[in-house]
Amino acid sequence: MRLILLGPPGAGKGTQAQRLVERHGIVQLSTGDMLRAAVAAGTEIGKRAKAVMDAGQLVSDEIVIGIVADRIDEPDARKGFVLDGFPRTIAQAEALDAMLSEKGLKLDAVIEFKVDNEKLVDRIVKRAKDAEAAGQPVRKDDNPEVFAKRLQEFASLTAALSPYYLKSGLLRTVDGMAPIDEVSEEINQILAEAVSA
Ligand code: AMP
Repeated sequence: MRLILLGPPGAGKGTQAQRLVERHGIVQLSTGDMLRAAVAAGTEIGKRAKAVMDAGQLVSDEIVIGIVADRIDEPDARKGFVLDGFPRTIAQAEALDAMLSEKGLKLDAVIEFKVDNEKLVDRIVKRAKDAEAAGQPVRKDDNPEVFAKRLQEFASLTAALSPYYLKSGLLRTVDGMAPIDEVSEEINQILAEAVSA
């Protein structure tokens, strides 16, 4: 199974991706996690991405396309994957299409999380507080100012992916403001239909 979770930051993509990993034995490919790991490890890519990420802007298509291309070639991704945070631009979506068709692979579904942007800010503030209370590191870009920039980047670059995937017939929508279990249930139903279609 190969899926894309599409939606603004804080929509719940990461939480649902983890559940899909457990349920279907696929891997979660989060470009945000990969980039944060590169920053923490101080790699060349990490050095190039750090300031851009801290400012809530998008890292270049060239960098993220490169890391996804390498990652989907790894053996654990053969059984399937859920992409979380990629693609984020039309250029990334086109590059993904090219990568998959070259390998003779297809996407099963693109699941879009519909959300209320104003409530997302409350969610992200809570995510930062919860991380702090649990003694975990707080993401530098999880503060209201940078978050506003991330939402803006979503609106100007990533929102265009909905019509892109609508055209290809892959787009399905879930209510990202519903309780976590309900969102999971909606996704499970979508996938049951997509796989039996
Ligand atoms: P995320 O964890 O998905 O919210 O991503 C955190 C940050 O990593 C984003 O604000 C971007 O700076 C960068 N990033 C993650 N995925 C991508 C992507 N597909 N394209 C460009 N930048 C990305």
